[in-house]
Amino acid sequence: MGNPLRERRTAAEWAAGAQVIEIAEKIGDFERLSAIIGADLAALDAAKMPADWRASAVDGRIEFGFADAQQLLPTATLTVATTVDAVCQRCLEAFRLPLEAEAELLLLELEQSADGYDEYEVWELEEKQLQPLDIVEEMLVMAMPFSAMHVDSASCKALAPTVQARDEDTTTPFAALREQMAQDK
Ligand SMILES: [Zn+2]
Repeated sequence: MGNPLRERRTAAEWAAGAQVIEIAEKIGDFERLSAIIGADLAALDAAKMPADWRASAVDGRIEFGFADAQQLLPTATLTVATTVDAVCQRCLEAFRLPLEAEAELLLLELEQSADGYDEYEVWELEEKQLQPLDIVEEMLVMAMPFSAMHVDSASCKALAPTVQARDEDTTTPFAALREQMAQDK
């Protein structure tokens, strides 16, 4: 049996089987996501390029079902997480960027609409058949920040001086207070 993420079935078929698919892929398995990450990393000097950025694990789960008792509205519930290599837009160094996505999707055909299901985001089915990998990839692409930056500001070279300045600021009132207390004695 192949990878169910790459199988094509109609949304109703996925939902009818109440399919649960464990996601255990690599970044390199997602063509569009890889292209985005590759273009971002191309800004780096060859020596700084992370060697195996395509090998980062993508883990999660996608579960199909129906939103309604009549079984007319297929749904997909997805959680996915990975850590990608990215270039910090502040210091222009490579860093590891954690990405996560969670979604509850209503799988609707283009002309189909559903009222009263506001807890779901609508996923428009552009083709009759749906490949779950496309949903996972779209969610990860949407989770990518427009401007990636070191999450942890202490590791960001561009931020290091600012952090120091801020530390000095916060210690100043205490230093002043300590001086005051010393004088009051
Ligand atoms: Zn940085």
